[in-house]
Amino acid sequence: MNEQFDFFMPARIFSGKGIVKSSEDVFSHLGKKCLIVTGKSSAKKSGALKDVTDTLEKLNIKYTVFDKITENPLASTCCEGGKIARETGADFVIGIGGGSPLDASKAVCVYAANPHIINDGIYTEEIKSTPLPLVLIGTTSGTGSEVSGVSVLTRENGRKQSVSGKNYYAKYVLADPCYTYSVPYHTTVSTALDAFAHAVESYFSKKHDALSRKFSCIAVSEIVPILKKFTEPDCTVTEAERDILYFASLHAGFALNKGGTCFPHGMGYALTEDYALPHGIACAVFIPAFLNEAKKGDKDGYEKIVSACGISENELFKILNTLCHADITVPLEKIEEYRVRWSTLKNFKNSPTDFNADDGASLTYNLFGK
Ligand code: NAP
Ligand code: FE
Repeated sequence: MNEQFDFFMPARIFSGKGIVKSSEDVFSHLGKKCLIVTGKSSAKKSGALKDVTDTLEKLNIKYTVFDKITENPLASTCCEGGKIARETGADFVIGIGGGSPLDASKAVCVYAANPHIINDGIYTEEIKSTPLPLVLIGTTSGTGSEVSGVSVLTRENGRKQSVSGKNYYAKYVLADPCYTYSVPYHTTVSTALDAFAHAVESYFSKKHDALSRKFSCIAVSEIVPILKKFTEPDCTVTEAERDILYFASLHAGFALNKGGTCFPHGMGYALTEDYALPHGIACAVFIPAFLNEAKKGDKDGYEKIVSACGISENELFKILNTLCHADITVPLEKIEEYRVRWSTLKNFKNSPTDFNADDGASLTYNLFGK
């Protein structure tokens, strides 16, 4: 039995319903002023913002709300957030939202402490000072950003690119699944597919280990029964199912934190940029092909993860083929552009077979070509 693993995830996680209001100690020892980083509406709709501000007011901690984070957050917006953190004298940052505001708040902490880093400089400049401490409160069940040292930002040229490492972890995570109850149905499906993609991509990644594989198996066992339900007509998601999905996204996040992603995520970024597909769907459209590759590269591992899904291989593919669908057409010139771009992408090298940029271009043509 190979039980070797090496796991680094320095954030302290407190979980449970009502956890924000009962975490006064977390906030009070971080300082007297903070910046709340969030999107346009999710923090309000989920109820998380009110729980946070009520708690901060009770503790006499001053706060400023920076709510300019959009989907696929721009590095430049995060840089602006960092400047505001400095100007308002924030001692710490609280990120509230889905993956976009959570990823953005990680970058805001880096920019805030490092005024020499401007916009795309975050991809190249050295981080000279320790980023501000960060508290993350998730409101979607997908990215697992709460537990990874990864921030996916959009560069000045419109391309999504991640930054990662020990400077991009939260100090605390307050995990309350109730904040996901207001997520619209189509976003719930897309984010669940993102979490499923994290579980399977990291499972077959060259960087996986024994522990990350266990997290992947736990995550798929939780997610797949709910994916199956999504294929039924007039499906509604119960609060109990949303609770399961939220924790499953964290379990998949633990796996992702170790293994990272493979070619579906690398290729999916391009579809989000050019066709505005939500992140989860954009990556998941490549998951059936990824699983077929994985079966060739690691048949034993493949059988184990399919077994963890709790259904037959045929049924799994039926569900994925129903849900992982995008109604787009990608012209040949675009596919050629992608072929060049993907040829240097590390997500391909992390994949379990020698599936390369040419194969990615052919797959895109088969799925979306004219
Ligand atoms: P998102 O982009 O954060 O949010 C999608 C939409 O859902 C937004 O309109 C958002 O509103 C809304 N929303 C979020 N929570 C809500 C709630 N509780 N109630 C109602 N509406 C809510 O979606 P996401 O899928 O969680 O994050 C995707 C981003 O994460 C992508 O940029 C992706 O590249 C990145 N990602 C990061 C990692 C990582 O390891 N760090 C992994 C995978 C993906 P607002 O605009 O108001 O916020
Ligand atoms: Fe993802």
